[in-house]
Amino acid sequence: MTARILVVDDIPANVKLLEVRLNAEYFEVITATSGPQALEICETSECDIVLLDVMMPGMDGFEVCRRLKQSPQTRHVPVIMVTALDQPADRVKGLEAGADDFLTKPVSETALIARVKNLVRLKRAVDELRMRARTSREMGLDDIDNVDDLANERGKILLVDDRRSSYERVANTLSKDADVTVETDPQDALFRCADGDYDMIMLSLSLEGFDSLRLCSQLRSLERTRNLPILLIAEPEENTRLLRGLELGVNDYILRPIDKNELLARTRTQVRRKRYADRLSANVQHTMELAVTDGLTGLQNRRYLETHLATLVNQAIARKTDLSVLVADIDYFKAVNDTHGHDVGDEVLREFARRLRRSVRGLDLACRYGGEEFVIVMPETDMSLAYMVGERVRQRMASEPFLVQGGATALDVTVSVGVAGLNGSRDTPDSLVKRADTALYAAKREGRNRVVADAA
Ligand code: GH3
Ligand code: MG
Ligand code: MG
Repeated sequence: MTARILVVDDIPANVKLLEVRLNAEYFEVITATSGPQALEICETSECDIVLLDVMMPGMDGFEVCRRLKQSPQTRHVPVIMVTALDQPADRVKGLEAGADDFLTKPVSETALIARVKNLVRLKRAVDELRMRARTSREMGLDDIDNVDDLANERGKILLVDDRRSSYERVANTLSKDADVTVETDPQDALFRCADGDYDMIMLSLSLEGFDSLRLCSQLRSLERTRNLPILLIAEPEENTRLLRGLELGVNDYILRPIDKNELLARTRTQVRRKRYADRLSANVQHTMELAVTDGLTGLQNRRYLETHLATLVNQAIARKTDLSVLVADIDYFKAVNDTHGHDVGDEVLREFARRLRRSVRGLDLACRYGGEEFVIVMPETDMSLAYMVGERVRQRMASEPFLVQGGATALDVTVSVGVAGLNGSRDTPDSLVKRADTALYAAKREGRNRVVADAA
């Protein structure tokens, strides 16, 4: 993992020290010796992390951080404050300015590397999501929410600690802006995290008779909890295990005795970050769904059918099971458009799709193949059963007129259907659909409003 790191400190010797350590880990380092210089670098070039000294003449680190976090261009660059003063009040001031993390001078080498790596990893994930969201916006696929303006919603936090005096105090402090659930059993905590939609898990590093790091590792290996922020509560002398935790992917930590403001501020940062990532991945998911969905009817589109039919055919061949395909085409649909207009034609297509969806099982795949042509793929269905489904579709359309224009117009709509079944391993997705299509043309030729099965 490599990254570009901006080191900001007014004392050149301090800059040099950090630069050497980061270089040894193959990070690319750029340096600045004042606040304004740092801001200029961030505006004109991409940085992955900013390591920011607090005490600098002129513009101090808090002000630099505040400005970075105010600009939409630099808001997402993680900032680590490097402070000589081990003062909780200082930490809080930095976190309120938007800092993501802290290091105290003299900077411990392992802590430096662990934290930088952790934040780089996180930034990579968010960058990726932001990039995809931007692409979908440019394609006009989605009216994406303004992800930069996440409201300060209440977080949902699972607190895992077995010492009553400790968890009561923490829960009490956090209840100000989060809903906190306390769990004293670490194994149950794992299940809770996998089941619940928590924004963060806060975990005591020193549990009675259980290694908290085991839980961290389990959380990181489970698909469902891989991105759940973990915040460790540690004793100052637990430094080595804390570092192990960071290597395992723990996001942040707080040392006892816990400073209330620091606790609130660190929690807020993690919750905000989680919400941000969630919003983006929901957006990406939505975009992917749009790409395989037909906008008019909500059915899957041809692109999806082509990919998925190949999978279903391979599966049926491998398992030696049946698979049938229906191709359905509305009769004389052009006349609907010509007589009532294109919008009524669209209404008919939507109602057709609704009835189609209700005629098939959840397991079946119903797609809009093009214009007024639809394809239904039915796994584990032989030809005679498929024929019956085709007949059911035909009847559903013909038996009741389509009400359009708010019920003002009733149209008789019929459909012709071709049916084909998978013919062992010689068949391909293409040949299967082609045979159903040939059967459909026979149905059209024979007078429409009928179902014809492929003779092969
Ligand atoms: P047949 O019984 O032989 O299938 O006759 P048909 O009129 O249904 O078939 P044809 O292929 O001649 O015409 C299909 C029409 O469907 C032509 C096209 O304008 C219309 N069409 C295709 N896509 C849409 C759509 O999204 N909305 C509307 N309203 N019409 C569409
Ligand atoms: Mg037609
Ligand atoms: Mg047609």
